[in-house]
Amino acid sequence: MNKRILLAKRPEGLPTADTWQLDIQPVPSIEEGEILVRNHYVSLDPAMRIWVTNARSYLPPVQLGDVMRAGTVGEVVESRDPRHPVGTFVQTWGGAQQYSALPGKQAYRVDPSLAPLTSFIGGLGMTGMTAYFGILEEGRIQAGETVLVSGGAGAVGSVAGQIAKIKGCRVVGVAGGPEKCRYMKEELGFDGAIDYKSDNLFKAVRRECPEGIDVYFDNVGGDMLDIALANLRMHARVLICGAISQYNEPVTQGPKFYLNLINMRASMKGFLVLDYASRYAEAAKEMAGWMAEGKLRSHEDVYVGIEQFHDTFLRLFSGDKHGKVVLKVLE
Ligand code: NAP
Repeated sequence: MNKRILLAKRPEGLPTADTWQLDIQPVPSIEEGEILVRNHYVSLDPAMRIWVTNARSYLPPVQLGDVMRAGTVGEVVESRDPRHPVGTFVQTWGGAQQYSALPGKQAYRVDPSLAPLTSFIGGLGMTGMTAYFGILEEGRIQAGETVLVSGGAGAVGSVAGQIAKIKGCRVVGVAGGPEKCRYMKEELGFDGAIDYKSDNLFKAVRRECPEGIDVYFDNVGGDMLDIALANLRMHARVLICGAISQYNEPVTQGPKFYLNLINMRASMKGFLVLDYASRYAEAAKEMAGWMAEGKLRSHEDVYVGIEQFHDTFLRLFSGDKHGKVVLKVLE
């Protein structure tokens, strides 16, 4: 049988347990050109909160009664596509379920001998790609620049900050609580840390970035974005990766200090990792090299059981997790 998480109700504010419904169906059959994947791991992402809102975004909203959209990694257990023989492993949008039947052309082969399967959801998966293309292509970072990363202990932010360190930047991370600040400095090698839960953000940014910010990689939005905007250097780049502080709010808080973009001849730009899909293999190769050399680490925080979907999802918003949140759905 196939256990699946369906969208049962559109949430208002933070999702509640009845936002989702656990449903059990027979394992689906496949047609010519399709594969059946037994999912091992499901990626839990802040963007899921956007996808369950009935509003226009970069992807259509998940419909009520549909399997929740999710990135997955799993093993091909039946195949009618010669590109993906039985026993190979693939990364795809399999949804929050234990088995996915889908066209083989929508799946990407991964090699489990290169890295643990969870890496293909985390550091070598979508979040790692977001960090890589965000900081390098969109941020155009230069050695010696000061880079501020919010969500700095999280899946995307931790990797973005480490890549900036590899490229010779001075990196300051923002995260919630003393343990995450210690982690960013002592384990990720960041030069400075700001605890958004207890520091005065204005003073802390001045303390950690006394010369101002060249690149702000924003994962959280809200007040943090404002304070970064107020502290830009000339020709700064503000990268809007996400705004998790706003995802459960009925109205998004807009930036107050955007006129500083004029003063500093700075830019502010949103970007989407999906636009770089054709270059994921190139990025994964370079990042796997950095990982092998011990220059880059990604931590996947694995929770077990599809029944834990809701509680695990909420950890993204409480911060009660360490690195990339992954749900093991294999039984
Ligand atoms: P994550 O950072 O691993 O987890 C979310 C973190 O957000 C939490 O751990 C918490 O940090 C922080 N957070 C939650 N609520 C907050 C609030 N009200 N104020 C400040 N911080 C808060 O998640 P992720 O997967 O790496 O995603 C990070 C961001 O990137 C999200 O905004 C996501 O939507 C975005 N994203 C964008 C793209 C793209 O293509 N543009 C792709 C992937 C992800 P602490 O643990 O430090 O408290």
